Amino acid sequence: MRNLDLKQATITLLLMCVLTLVVMACSQESSDPGSVPGKAPETARPAKPVQPSILLITLDTTRADRLGIETDQADTPNLETLAGRGVYFNQAYSVTPTTLPSHASMLTGLYPADHHVRENGRVIDKQIELLQALLQGRGYTTAAFVSGFPLAGQFGLSRGFDHYDDAFVGDAAERPATATTDLALDWLLGKASPLFMWVHYFDPHEPYEPPEPFLSRYPRDPYLGEIAYMDQQLGRLVMAFEEHNQGRPWKIIVVGDHGEGLGDHGETLHGNLLYQGTMRVPLIVAGSGIEAGNSERAVSVRQVFDTVLDWSGESRAGGLFGDESGPVLAEALKPYMQYGWQPQFMAVLDGIKVISSGDTEIYDVRNDPGESNNLDSQIEPDAVLWDAIEAYSIRALAVQTEKQQALSQEALDKLASLGYVGVSGGSKIRDDAPNPRDMVHLFHDMDIGAGLFIRQDYAAAIPVFTRILEADPYNFMATLRLAVAYSVTDNEDQAQKLFDRARAIDSSSIDLRHYQAMHYLKNKQWDLAQPLFESVLTESPDRIPALAGLAQVYTRQGELKKALSQLEKIVKIKESPGLEWARMGQLRMTLHDTKGAIRAFEAARKMLEDQFTFNLELGILYMADRRFNEAATSLDRVSSQHPAYAMALFKRAQTSVLLSEGDRNNRVRKAWLQADETTRPLIENERLFRDIPFR
Ligand SMILES: [Zn+2]
Repeated sequence: MRNLDLKQATITLLLMCVLTLVVMACSQESSDPGSVPGKAPETARPAKPVQPSILLITLDTTRADRLGIETDQADTPNLETLAGRGVYFNQAYSVTPTTLPSHASMLTGLYPADHHVRENGRVIDKQIELLQALLQGRGYTTAAFVSGFPLAGQFGLSRGFDHYDDAFVGDAAERPATATTDLALDWLLGKASPLFMWVHYFDPHEPYEPPEPFLSRYPRDPYLGEIAYMDQQLGRLVMAFEEHNQGRPWKIIVVGDHGEGLGDHGETLHGNLLYQGTMRVPLIVAGSGIEAGNSERAVSVRQVFDTVLDWSGESRAGGLFGDESGPVLAEALKPYMQYGWQPQFMAVLDGIKVISSGDTEIYDVRNDPGESNNLDSQIEPDAVLWDAIEAYSIRALAVQTEKQQALSQEALDKLASLGYVGVSGGSKIRDDAPNPRDMVHLFHDMDIGAGLFIRQDYAAAIPVFTRILEADPYNFMATLRLAVAYSVTDNEDQAQKLFDRARAIDSSSIDLRHYQAMHYLKNKQWDLAQPLFESVLTESPDRIPALAGLAQVYTRQGELKKALSQLEKIVKIKESPGLEWARMGQLRMTLHDTKGAIRAFEAARKMLEDQFTFNLELGILYMADRRFNEAATSLDRVSSQHPAYAMALFKRAQTSVLLSEGDRNNRVRKAWLQADETTRPLIENERLFRDIPFR
């Protein structure tokens, strides 16, 4: 591919747009049903630009050097064809090696330090403008089809899409490219232009399990098989999109969210380091008016935002073809946020890359793409790189406490199944903070341990976290999780010792207070648990396990109304809170609030269906409310295995007499025959049964 002078390309592009616009405007004029044939309009309307339909395709976990464009080993004919027709950016960089923050940057134009989504599982702030919402305002119909749980609509990127398809099959956390492509093509049928469509493929993310024939084609490198499979589906999508837009302008942008370590510099997956394997991503732009070419300019995935807005007619200098220059930046803060290691930042300009992570690495990435030769002592990069890193790191580290999100256990499980197990850690640089690149031997244990922890396999997690702490004694996350594992497996001494140690490392951590409170709760130390839960909830009011823990503490302390108010908060934010409604029913029953208790139990029964075990309580409440038919139905549902089944029979017999049912004598007799110590005297003394021969 030849190199292209981008300034020249921009001018050519502008000229072509002008020409296209004139042609389009004319053709629209002549076909306008309101215009009179043969007669020119009296006042010339300003030419209305024809907005192109735009397709954004994001490739998860895709390394630029694993596409056919860059290596003979890969089989990606559709991406190669697209790159051949458009512009291939061979120095395109992710903003951070994590799915949600990277996509958030594409759709906001902001770096993670500025949109504040630093990890998966966070929710983007509602105040932040999203590309798709702006396009809606400019007349676009918008739709998104995502394939991995980190981009599920609940994390906020669905805002501004007319249609957001994140419905993964069953409990799955991802879906294959074929399914996503089918849905996108179905949606596309008959849709009016201009369109903005975002399609996200997740296949290259581990585990690498491509379908046949791609698995057989790459028996030793299934990662390449996933990429080949994704390319096949991308080909279908691109072809359908072009056909849909025949005779109209269109643009396509294909971009990776981050790459994959694949062993480079000791990193297998992505998320911990800033080397090229995870940071340099594929980026192709093609479509109406775009001349084929190759660009070596360092660009960032966040420039997708300005590029697309510019196409829609809102002039932007920060796009991929814009005039804005300056270093491209990125961060990798997971090791800092979770383990207290050095924060890592990077800047790239003109082929020179600087990594700052406690010390400095400098690479000539065009000539040394494997980053094997650190030029730190040999060259002095442009001061603008240092200034940019310094300014960015100040911004990035200033955001101390991000709003904690109330993730359900289900959401945590799904993220964990994809290898994302981040919970908030210390967020401060330890005095002995190691450089993450010197800790790669721990990445594997960290991932394994975190996975076991999320799956609540605490006994198996203990040796893993113990190993990590032998190598990294002040690792906050490992210390805290080991404390929890000991607490749950009833090793009280070790648990307390490790909680103390975690406090010595970072006494301000909200997670420390949370887990310590859970520990006290388990040990029935209500008065110790209470202030800790209260402090957690002051900082993070939506934390469901803390609300539930505090409700339990208040109940045990006899503060039933306070307990109720915690449960009321949970039912407002939790998905299907059946158990919490049942708990509220019990509390209201104890407080003699019959109607309130009925409402709560009814809500619980609706959500829990067959799992609802409070039919006896509900039956008794209906009787108290003189709703005898409903009482009878409810009591009939009490299982014969219920420990208070005798009571259910007694109550059912009372109802039967009150309703004058035909079989009331039998019911009373049955209650008598199966009576226990509690119900026998009740039956003997029951006035309703006075005239019934049950003995
Ligand atoms: Zn990703």
